[in-house]
Formats: sequence, C-alpha cells, structure tokens
Amino acid sequence: TYYTQAKFSTSAPDIRHLEGDEGIEVAFAGRSNAGKSSALNTLARQKNLARTSKTPGRTQLINVFELEEGRRLIDLPGYGFAQVPIAMKKKWQQALGEYLQKRKSLKGLVVLMDIRHPFKDLDQDLIYWAVEANIPVLALLTKSDKLKAGKRKAQLMMAQEAALAFMGDVTVQTFSSHNRQGLPELEQMLDGWFHR
Ligand code: GDP
Repeated sequence: TYYTQAKFSTSAPDIRHLEGDEGIEVAFAGRSNAGKSSALNTLARQKNLARTSKTPGRTQLINVFELEEGRRLIDLPGYGFAQVPIAMKKKWQQALGEYLQKRKSLKGLVVLMDIRHPFKDLDQDLIYWAVEANIPVLALLTKSDKLKAGKRKAQLMMAQEAALAFMGDVTVQTFSSHNRQGLPELEQMLDGWFHR
C-alpha cells in the first residue's frame, strides 16, 4: 500500500523545531502505551519503523516519516506519564496547542486511545485543540482484540457518543495492531487527508 513506503526522515527535539511546513502531514498522538508505535508499524507493514521509548519523563523526539516528497506522518511523543513534572507537562501542552494552531501542512490528527479507557483528560484537551484549529480527528480505539465483540461494540458506541461533545470533525473507530482490525478504515481516512 501507499503507507508501506513510509521511511524515517528526521527527528525534531520538539514541535517548535519541526521544519518544512509544506505539503501535507498527518500527526499521530496518544498517551504513552496507547499503542501508537504498534499502529504506525502496522500501517507501514514494518516491524521497527516507530520505536517505543520506554523511559518515562524523558524528552522524546518527534519522528517524521516520509511517504513521498511532501507527504509525511508525524509521530508525536506519548503523553500522560505520571512522573513528568507539571512544568514540563505545561510546556508540552503549549507547544502541542501551537503546533495544531499554526502548522499549515497539518491536515489530520490520529489520536490513539486504549479501547478500555478512552478520552482521558489529555486526550480530550488534544481533541479540543484540534477541533478549535479545524483539524479533523480520527480517534482510534486501540487494542480492540482485548475485548470480546459485544463489549467492543459497546465501547465504540459509548466513545462515538462522547465524541459528539467536541462538536467537530471527530471520527471514532476501533483498531488492533494484533489482528489488523480497522486497518482498511484507517487507511481510507488517511487517503482522504492526503488527497489520494
Ligand atoms: P506506544 O507507547 O503508544 O507507542 O505503545 P506501543 O505500540 O509500544 O504498545 C504498548 C503496549 O501495548 C505494548 O506492550 C504492545 O505490545 C501492546 N499493544 C499495542 N497494540 C496492541 C494491540 O493492538 N493489541 C494488543 N493486545 N496489544 C497491543
């Protein structure tokens, strides 16, 4: 698929240092451990494209994966580590808000949330900022394989209901990196954002 072409391009120490605001980019964000790296690797059909940094509170790089010239996936650092000092959290939130507001090439945001506990505080903040900035959001309920069909459906419906409160372009779907459930739908959404 188009996304198998993804290859590491650059890292940036923080979003303010992201260069090349041209073309189209789609950002992936989520609490750490939400399954973001797994989802990126599943999308790209590559084992180690995105790597998880398992060091809580450390400054994590933003990784840029290029699909073709002027088309990028942006892997934003995971958030929500309890151990991170409040000052650092504030700084990160501010930078993230700025990125969503000012980045002209940003055409979509994928927010990854564990299907068992979606829409935690920081997830909600992020989605609000995206809606405010008119960035369409795909809320991916990850690790869908962890739930049986009935419970999975119930969680999806609950999350879709909750998403209405954002009063914006927020789509919710389930996803599993383990069995690729939801992968075609994810690709379809990305295709739309990339004008494919
Ligand atoms: P990240 O911190 O958001 O990048 O999360 P990772 O992709 O590293 O995943 C965190 C943990 O969740 C790892 O132990 C993964 O094996 C597990 N995980 C990720 N995706 C899935 C999934 O779709 N199903 C299941 N069952 N586990 C998953």
